[in-house]
Amino acid sequence: MDYKQYIRVIPDFPQPGIRFKDITTLLKDGPAYRSAIQDLAEFAREVDAEVIAGPEARGFVVGAPLSYEMSIGFVPIRKSGKLPYESIKAEYDLEYGKDALAVHVDAIQPGQRVLIADDLLATGGTIESTIKLVEQLGGKVVGAAFFIELSYLDGRKKIGDIPVKSLVQY
Ligand code: IMP
Repeated sequence: MDYKQYIRVIPDFPQPGIRFKDITTLLKDGPAYRSAIQDLAEFAREVDAEVIAGPEARGFVVGAPLSYEMSIGFVPIRKSGKLPYESIKAEYDLEYGKDALAVHVDAIQPGQRVLIADDLLATGGTIESTIKLVEQLGGKVVGAAFFIELSYLDGRKKIGDIPVKSLVQY
């Protein structure tokens, strides 16, 4: 499926110079959303993922249905300060701004094969700190899956040798 036609590009949001990729136009189309998740599930099966981890908030929109589709677990990676149980955190830079992500210390078992899912790969900062958190818990990151990849920002550089799948590239 050509997913690009379902993505709306908003110029100068949330600040001048950013061309924001709006996935709500894909999400509201049932068959397109389902097909996108199924395509990413194929990749998740190829890399033999045992659990999906997704960063707040749009990583939940990709990661949770992906884990449901595959009948494996989902681990929410949350903004710092939101998780109720003992957590570890990692700081990261955004395409526009700075933030910190956190995960429960018992969310991932040592040696578990983890696929990271998010809506969009930009500079790779979000994914880099998600990888850091997963690896700190002893998990093995076997892949990273996205609806969208902004190739011109070269986020893959921060992902290293980990296999990457994206459905749409800009
Ligand atoms: P990165 O950390 O620079 O790779 O940015 C990726 C994160 O920022 C993802 O979690 C996205 O949800 C968000 N993001 C950055 N740019 C966009 C955009 O154009 N559309 C939607 N989300 C974006």
